[in-house]
Amino acid sequence: MKILNNYALGGWVQAGKNLSDVHSAVTGEVVARTGSDGLDFGAMTRYARETGGPALRALTFHERAVLLKGLAKAIIAGKEALYELSYDTGARRSDSWIDIEGGTGTLFTYASLGRRQLPNDTVLVDGGAAPLSKQGSFIGQHVFTSRHGLALHINAFNFPVWGMLEKLGPTLLAGVPAIVKPARATVPLCAATVRIMIESGLLPAGALQLVVGGAGDIFDHLNCQDTVCFTGSASTAIQLQNHPVMAREGVRFIAERDSLNAAILGPDAVAGTPEFDLFAKEVAREMTVKAGQKCTAIRRILVPRAEADAVQAAIAGRLSDITIGDPRLKEVRMGPLATLAQRADVRACIARLRREARLVFGDPDKVEAVGADAGKGAFISPVLLRCDAPMTAEIVHSEEAFGPVATIMPYDDLNQAVTIANRGGGALVMSLFSHDPAVARQVLSGAGAFHGRLYISDRDSAGEGTGHGAPLPMLVHGGPGRAGGGEEMGGLRGVRHYMQRTALQGSPRLLSGITNRYLPGAPRRLNGVHPFRLHFDEARIGDAVQSASRTITSDDVAHFAQFTGDTFYAHMDEEAAAANPFFPGRVAHGYLLLSFAAGLFVDPAPGPVLANYGLEGLRFLKPVVPGDAIKVTLTVKAKSRRAADYGEVTWDVEIQNQHDEVVATYDLLTMNAIKGVA
Ligand code: NAP
Repeated sequence: MKILNNYALGGWVQAGKNLSDVHSAVTGEVVARTGSDGLDFGAMTRYARETGGPALRALTFHERAVLLKGLAKAIIAGKEALYELSYDTGARRSDSWIDIEGGTGTLFTYASLGRRQLPNDTVLVDGGAAPLSKQGSFIGQHVFTSRHGLALHINAFNFPVWGMLEKLGPTLLAGVPAIVKPARATVPLCAATVRIMIESGLLPAGALQLVVGGAGDIFDHLNCQDTVCFTGSASTAIQLQNHPVMAREGVRFIAERDSLNAAILGPDAVAGTPEFDLFAKEVAREMTVKAGQKCTAIRRILVPRAEADAVQAAIAGRLSDITIGDPRLKEVRMGPLATLAQRADVRACIARLRREARLVFGDPDKVEAVGADAGKGAFISPVLLRCDAPMTAEIVHSEEAFGPVATIMPYDDLNQAVTIANRGGGALVMSLFSHDPAVARQVLSGAGAFHGRLYISDRDSAGEGTGHGAPLPMLVHGGPGRAGGGEEMGGLRGVRHYMQRTALQGSPRLLSGITNRYLPGAPRRLNGVHPFRLHFDEARIGDAVQSASRTITSDDVAHFAQFTGDTFYAHMDEEAAAANPFFPGRVAHGYLLLSFAAGLFVDPAPGPVLANYGLEGLRFLKPVVPGDAIKVTLTVKAKSRRAADYGEVTWDVEIQNQHDEVVATYDLLTMNAIKGVA
């Protein structure tokens, strides 16, 4: 039996005194001992801030992304040992797939986001520049920079790998070091994953530390630059949030708490429709995956009253097919809960729920376990309850049995279903099974404000839908109210939690220099070498070319119209165009302007510009009429290296008329070769 070590101050540290036992969920045997007595939490926080933070902040977003990818690959290479350890948490291989490969998948996603959506820089520009002065010499620009603190990740027992990695991805990408404190019940699996990451040698010193026991006095050492990211029960969250240091220092606190998630069967989804069958299947799946120990699991099953008996029969039928037992066995469809204490909690909660709901499937005190001793492991049967008066009930809307337990609640009309769903006081996710957009719209209007995610399932999306219970890295995970009010992941939204937004004010030249991007009003270096002759690494922000001008004739407009087939009246019919409130008469096509602009600014010979791959933010600001003359200014706006041999250049393009008025603006995106490579 193993004594787990902490990872602190750059080394593995023995667990010290006052060890607690970690039991196998299947056999009840002690599989590891763990503790954190004797750790110097103050020194750990300083080490994170003073060693890990600066090392991570010295890396660009792209370098951090490469780091994340490396970590994910290392975990994948060592995954079989993790699957082996996970059986003792009660998880089947498919349960742990969500945990282990769902976790690495999240890291891969953040690695890819970092490379594709973030600059190869340490400053992240937020939105466009704000004009603050008449002459344009004073502007505003929001930016994000990494916070100088640490992220304290306090995690729940149910997803020891994913629960850590879904926080670690955004944290490391933001350039912030983490101290991870997993739940003790499943800490061996988390500790083994941390060991893989440390032994990969990829992480800078101080970027990651691990506490395998209690959190000691760590909260006393937090400061205004730190972030606590907590996942667990509401009661622990409230206790931690009320620590005096949290308010005094203004420590950021992100909470993912428990949640009474609902699933609504739409009024249109009566028995016999595909949505009805999808609903029964999804509810039974959500109840039994991970033995219902998912923060997103369906706890409240809202169905039209006329369908309640049919729904009950359909779900009960599916639950009766679930074989419970040793999670290693292929025929087993549901393993035990994570601990005996967890089972005692679930049973106690079922007893409270039964004051308002009757048992319609399963027996919380009786279970048979295939290949295991049901008397020793934390096995429990799925339990389906039914509460016929959910509008007057209280407990079913406030008590979360964190196991394979859910309650059917009939509703009389859709407004009532929404009211019942919202009685959960805020939840991570709600699902709706309906084929009717009007039903979906009504549910969103009534319940959107109470839910972090709304999963809508019907016959069209069922084949590819990811399921009610699966948080995805691109989408926000979190919910208001009881669910904690926190948000994690959501693509880059999750990264920004660990960064500070600062509103910069100053001259365009200075702000351009700070942000490494051309901002309106900043000086341009005009008409030196044509920027199309510059390789990616040679082009500097502000390098620009001003084209010659070209007069647009009526023949040009007529020719373009005939050639492209775009004979819209505004280009063809003087009288009809003049009647249009926006045009003085016949106007040039916007696409003609773009085409002529390209003809004016390109430097045509083969060179470092490999391809044009799009335009962004195109606006036509003033009509151009035959007789007007246009010219173009093309300026290197931003650069982002994409691969070893090329990078993306964003060009600011401004088309002006003969009065120097801007008639169109857009960003042009090109791929440019790196010198000496292509
Ligand atoms: P928990 O008892 O609240 O524990 C959560 C974490 O807090 C554990 O790491 C625990 O460590 C730690 N903790 C407890 N007391 C602490 C203290 N005084 N100081 C510092 N840390 C402390 O919750 P759980 O039983 O592990 O997880 C189940 C609950 O989590 C369920 O209610 C579930 O709904 C919720 N959950 C929510 C989400 C979500 O994303 N919203 C996800 C998963 C689970 P020890 O293990 O060492 O006590």
